[in-house]
Amino acid sequence: MGYNIFETVNLKQSFRKKLKSFVATLGSAITRGNKISFADNDISYVSNEQYNIRRKITRDGKKLFEDNKRSSMYATITDVISGVHPDDEVCSCPNCGSVSTIAGLQDGCPFCGTRYKMSDLFPKVTGYYFIEDVSLAGDEGKRIMRKFMIGAVIAILLFALIVEFFVFKDQHARGEEFNFGLLLAPLFLIPIGIAVGYFAYSFYLIFRTIAVGSRQSAGKWGAIGSRGSFEKRMKAIFPDFSFEYFTSKAISLIKTAVYAPNEQELLFYRGDALAPEFKDIIDLNYGAALGLADFKEEDGRVIVSTDAFFDVLYDTDGKIRSRKEKYRAVFIRRTDIPIDMRFSMTKIQCPTCGGSFNAVQNRICPFCGQSYDIESQDWILSKLYRE
Ligand SMILES: [Zn+2]
Ligand SMILES: [Zn+2]
Repeated sequence: MGYNIFETVNLKQSFRKKLKSFVATLGSAITRGNKISFADNDISYVSNEQYNIRRKITRDGKKLFEDNKRSSMYATITDVISGVHPDDEVCSCPNCGSVSTIAGLQDGCPFCGTRYKMSDLFPKVTGYYFIEDVSLAGDEGKRIMRKFMIGAVIAILLFALIVEFFVFKDQHARGEEFNFGLLLAPLFLIPIGIAVGYFAYSFYLIFRTIAVGSRQSAGKWGAIGSRGSFEKRMKAIFPDFSFEYFTSKAISLIKTAVYAPNEQELLFYRGDALAPEFKDIIDLNYGAALGLADFKEEDGRVIVSTDAFFDVLYDTDGKIRSRKEKYRAVFIRRTDIPIDMRFSMTKIQCPTCGGSFNAVQNRICPFCGQSYDIESQDWILSKLYRE
């Protein structure tokens, strides 16, 4: 197959600056909900430097979970080739007339609070994920190697002691010729233990590389096998279709539904309530590839079933568990509404009371309680479950 999903590009200097600011703000965005800076480039995968991802979960000052993994970050950056880049364009709020920038109006007008439905502001980082590094380097590798060596030395000394007491039991019982040479045994046994520990560590590294590597490529192949035909059929319906952008959207809808206090209030979610264990999830990291399980076209809609691998952190009654899981998600989109990457902005207004609010996060008007259920113009998530 001609696809290399790990293809990376070199960034232009100006883009590198923006990507740096995205990376710099990512940690605080995840832990404290702060804003993420956007970066930009052509539609592509970008591999950045390696990062140590440290996760620490505490409650009432008590540590419940901690890990620290060396990972590479992959970011998808999407841009429109023919579109405009209006982020910093100055505009007056259509409602109150206050002057602000278009990017500034994304989370509602800072002066009157009016919400606008905007198509995405390109270019922007539309997705990112981390891939755990297979190799062990630096302190982690040394720490594990030391454990193997100490373990092997202890095992060999114990074995020698057992031999001494059980095999030569009879000689000891008769009080015969205590073998003083045995006192020198550790001099030989400790270096042997260290060597055996080193060999065991080497084998451990080989098995680890095979295990982690195959787990990661299992995700990749699923996507590559079915991607070509899916992309072709989607492009026939929607000429602007981009697989990278669809993947970003799909992952973002899955995450939003999982993290939402009530997914059924989300504008894009039309399905049964999620299984209760989804609400125990406190961290969800996409594991590199979106596989296509099924694709059909019926009644003027496309229905796409996807499989995605995630690194999941659960908090079940105060117990933290880390799991690797595969989720099946079904997405639906009307075929009569074209994908429009050009920028557009419309005011969101409750048809009953005229109030303006974030309809993406809340389908119920917070002012009058009326349900605001305009048909979504984009992908809808209709099913999400653990495979
Ligand atoms: Zn305003
Ligand atoms: Zn209302």
